[in-house]
Amino acid sequence: MIRAANLGFPRIGRTRELKKATEAYWAGESDAGQLAQIARALRHQNWREQADAGLSVIPSNDFSFYDQVLDTTAMLGAVPPRFSGGAGAQAPGTVDLDTYFAMARGTDDAPAMEMTKWFDTNYHYIVPEFHRDQQFHLASTKPIDEFEEAKAAGVHTRPVLLGPVTYLALGKAKESDLEPQDLLERVLPVYEEVLKRLAAAGADWVQIDEPRLALDLTDAERASFPAAYKRLAAAGPKLMLATYFDGLRDNTELAAQLPVDGLHVDLVRAPDQLESVLQALPGETVLSLGLIDGRNVWRADLSGLLPVVEQAKRALGADRLELAPSCSLLHTPIDLEMEDQLDAELKSWLAFAKQKLHELSALATAGNHGRDAARQAFDAADQAIRARRDSARVRDPKVRARTAAITEADKQRHSAFHERRKKQQKHLQLPKFPTTTIGSFPQTREVRRARGQFRRGEIDARQYEDFLKTTTEQAVRLQEELGLDVLVHGEFERTDMVEYFGEQLEGFAFTRHAWVQSFGSRYVRPPIIYGDVSRPEAMTVKWSAYAQSLTDKPVKGMLTGPVTIQQWSFVRDDQPRRETCHQIALAIRDEVQDLENAGIRLIQIDEPALREGLPLRRADWEGYLRWAVDAFRIASAGVADETQIHTHMCYAEFNDIMAWIAAMDADVISIETSRSAMELLDGFVDFRYPNEIGPGVWDIHSPRVPSSAEMRDLLSKAANVIDADQLWVNPDCGLKTRGWPEVEASLKNLVTAAREMRRAA
Ligand code: GLN
Ligand code: ZN
Repeated sequence: MIRAANLGFPRIGRTRELKKATEAYWAGESDAGQLAQIARALRHQNWREQADAGLSVIPSNDFSFYDQVLDTTAMLGAVPPRFSGGAGAQAPGTVDLDTYFAMARGTDDAPAMEMTKWFDTNYHYIVPEFHRDQQFHLASTKPIDEFEEAKAAGVHTRPVLLGPVTYLALGKAKESDLEPQDLLERVLPVYEEVLKRLAAAGADWVQIDEPRLALDLTDAERASFPAAYKRLAAAGPKLMLATYFDGLRDNTELAAQLPVDGLHVDLVRAPDQLESVLQALPGETVLSLGLIDGRNVWRADLSGLLPVVEQAKRALGADRLELAPSCSLLHTPIDLEMEDQLDAELKSWLAFAKQKLHELSALATAGNHGRDAARQAFDAADQAIRARRDSARVRDPKVRARTAAITEADKQRHSAFHERRKKQQKHLQLPKFPTTTIGSFPQTREVRRARGQFRRGEIDARQYEDFLKTTTEQAVRLQEELGLDVLVHGEFERTDMVEYFGEQLEGFAFTRHAWVQSFGSRYVRPPIIYGDVSRPEAMTVKWSAYAQSLTDKPVKGMLTGPVTIQQWSFVRDDQPRRETCHQIALAIRDEVQDLENAGIRLIQIDEPALREGLPLRRADWEGYLRWAVDAFRIASAGVADETQIHTHMCYAEFNDIMAWIAAMDADVISIETSRSAMELLDGFVDFRYPNEIGPGVWDIHSPRVPSSAEMRDLLSKAANVIDADQLWVNPDCGLKTRGWPEVEASLKNLVTAAREMRRAA
């Protein structure tokens, strides 16, 4: 029989119960017992939900209080030394809850472990830290406990573990001569022990995630896989080796030859790999087909998928087949039924985690007994797919004609940078080391309260607007007093840099409950791009023009770029991302034009997500960068030479894509560098960045106020690798999470630092 299987279910709860419970615990408003109780209820509900949906394979240990990579660190006892001596009463050898949270969030004495993005998702994991003398031991029995817990509730589960090779690859060695894979022999005994204990508890199968297999591997990683799995295969339970986020490509043989009992492949990201996987799969190995999109919200085309199931069934037989989501459903919202404000038509095109379980179940039924056995589900899916394809809300001929007509000239500023620069200098009359900020000013409690009151109808549009005007004017006055050279309006009217634009664009839908975990207790609610994107009217001109009307200093217009708007949304699956991105780019281009017409002389188009959109495989980078950089150029190139285009990115790790960053041809780019004391600028030594650049001199991630001497020191360092003429002076990022007192003090020092640099120059 073909089995419907799941790889992981969202753990946050339908009404964000986990967030509320953990935050209450952190705030000391509840105790560990209460937190554990809520966690248990969430797990039970998820198991029930999956059993009720008819799934044959239900995961356990997919729950986490914070992050599954951190769970693995806890399981392996790999607690960095700075957390083990703390105040928490820690039983020898085990990682208690407070140590666990301390690693994620830091304490007064020990900074938190680093956090970074999980592959190409917007989920963030806690980066393991490894030392040369690193030891591992079983320090958390969570996988076994949760298996037992499910068993006691009458649900037989397949526990999920993060595999050793990927786990090590995700970590960072603290010494430069240590390669994480060197530690493989030391982690394997702990994995073996966990597997043995799971077997003893009654687990026949264990899902072991090795998404690294879908990436370009180092030689060390390539060697680790056979070494690891030879040992783990002997530990007891059968292993379902799960790969996802891309195809196996050149690692197909490697994966198929590992001594495991099952292999899961992502057929959403890489549908073409089915043939080669079927061919490479040996003897009795079970194949899990990742057919339902675990990264997006669209309803599956069941009729389109059934032939794939049938093909695999012909090749392997039903008993060797499982149908699954492409990856864990962690990356999708939980239940579409809760969306009471989406219109019925749009809703019929969507499927969230719960709905995806039913899709899997229907597909398995049809695979086993024919389409008629799951007729209702198939008919409904057919109808929805057809309706979506033919809907006038999805395709806008005017938009399509416009993207089709984009020319090379549309991507090209009138003159080259050195020409534009002369004109801009004349037009803007800025001093050397010009000072500015990245856009947002503190979103204080008052700002959020006024927005809430307006949304609830407690104040009217007029009152809200008056509030925003007053706040904006105060920000402008303060910037004048501080002596900043290029002002901003402060972005008080915006909640979020994507939502603000999405709400004003055609083709976007917003949900009320569709939260997805970003990290720890932080969840996001990405917009859904469902149709061709266009801009009915100007989106930002009013606020920029208002701010400019208050001052003679130039006010910089502030936009979010097309790549970022798309990257932080659920994207269309019915056309290439490039197409949607260029539609958004044209909308932003119109906005840029309107800002210019309204007298705005500098316009910043933020692209903080450009780098995270990079494909996982190096071979795909160029294809992506070409359309992504094009999108920025389409958005920005319509202006006169005199108008200065800025961009901002929240990082500076682009040594490997520097030429592409330069190809965006922004007149000025601001980036984050202060935390690394300008070390990130090393890339600028090898590649001379041609345009102007503002390396952040103030780490806005902490409330600390840097002195002007510190900032001057950073600027001098920057001036070693970048021409002083090219340098701008600004913070690392926007100031929306900061408070006014530290903003005022820091900006004062920032202006002083710039003035001293000018004097010394
Ligand atoms: N302009 C935005 C701000 O200042 C940029 C934020 C970002 O890049 N993440 O808030
Ligand atoms: Zn930023």
